Amino acid sequence: MSQTIAVIKGDGIGPEIMDATLRVLDALDCGLEYDFIDAGLTALEKHGSLMPQDSLDAIARYGVALKGPLTTPIGKGFSSINVQMRRHFDLYANVRPAITFPGTRSRYDDIDMITVRENTEGAYLSEGQEFVDDGNTGLSVIKVTRQGSERIVRYAFELAKNNGRKKVTAVHKANIIKTSSGLFLDVAREVAKEYPDIEFQEMIVDNACMQLVMNPHQFDVVVTTNLFGDILSDLCAGLVGGLGLAPGANIGENAAIFEAVHGSAPDIAGRKIANPCALLLAAAQMLDHLGMPEKGTAIRQGIRHVLERNRDMVTPDMGGSGTTDSFAEALVTTL
Ligand code: NAD
Repeated sequence: MSQTIAVIKGDGIGPEIMDATLRVLDALDCGLEYDFIDAGLTALEKHGSLMPQDSLDAIARYGVALKGPLTTPIGKGFSSINVQMRRHFDLYANVRPAITFPGTRSRYDDIDMITVRENTEGAYLSEGQEFVDDGNTGLSVIKVTRQGSERIVRYAFELAKNNGRKKVTAVHKANIIKTSSGLFLDVAREVAKEYPDIEFQEMIVDNACMQLVMNPHQFDVVVTTNLFGDILSDLCAGLVGGLGLAPGANIGENAAIFEAVHGSAPDIAGRKIANPCALLLAAAQMLDHLGMPEKGTAIRQGIRHVLERNRDMVTPDMGGSGTTDSFAEALVTTL
């Protein structure tokens, strides 16, 4: 049975890495149909809006989108499309795997962890919820709710349970930010009791940063609030060789959007040297989500294989002399 997904090719290097990724998906024979929708600069030129209603409707209809990076034009009146989509679809879970691959600038081998970041509340609230008085004092609000914490912690435990992962670490600052981070930690402890087979660990965020750098293998699934998750997931991306290998999923009850963490890289757009790995890994996450984990694993193993054995096919940012297309071609031959 075929399933249709919305595909946003994106701006800058977006179309190049998306074409490479779709080529791999086609070779995997996943039974996916693509509805190509406009967003970003292309949409602005064609429809006068960065995120047209038709595109939002298509994502709502299919429930799943694979998205290339979008350029947010500099200047007033343009709010981030990513933030808009997160709000529109209530994409509460930002799921960021960090896996070490061979031949990358990683400090460690065999890191395989996932950060689950709460994506809708915490310190990142909508306009109007920040206060500035007299130009000398800035005051921001951190909002943590029982319901928001429950759904993100439960998401993390379910992810662990369904993927044979053994441990969930709740990262917090409840010792200082007692009301909001304290509530998150209380809820995490309660939810953890529902999953006796999964080890639960709690860790203060500053210690978590140090532990991640010194002993990352102790982590499996990390769950945390918005701001800490934003920072920790980039720290983890750095641990495994940078943004070229960092995928992310934004997941809600009714929609899920899968993308590379990096941007549209206008400095190398059109040169066919963009690294497609992050978007390929996002596609692998999408296949896991669509109930085809063996196909997701095939992409991850294929990337591993090419990085290990076909160095000349790898893009320059990873030390090779290949192109976006040569990487995809080499990957396809491993499938
Ligand atoms: P960027 O991630 O686009 O680029 C930073 C650096 O990394 C550049 O030198 C770039 O060449 C390199 N790079 C990024 N992806 C690469 C890849 N796949 N292969 C090889 N090199 C790669 O960040 P930026 O320059 O700060 O942002 C450019 C635009 O992207 C901005 O308009 C920004 O708003 C947008 N952006 C979009 C997203 C998204 O859609 N998810 C995320 C971040 C930034």
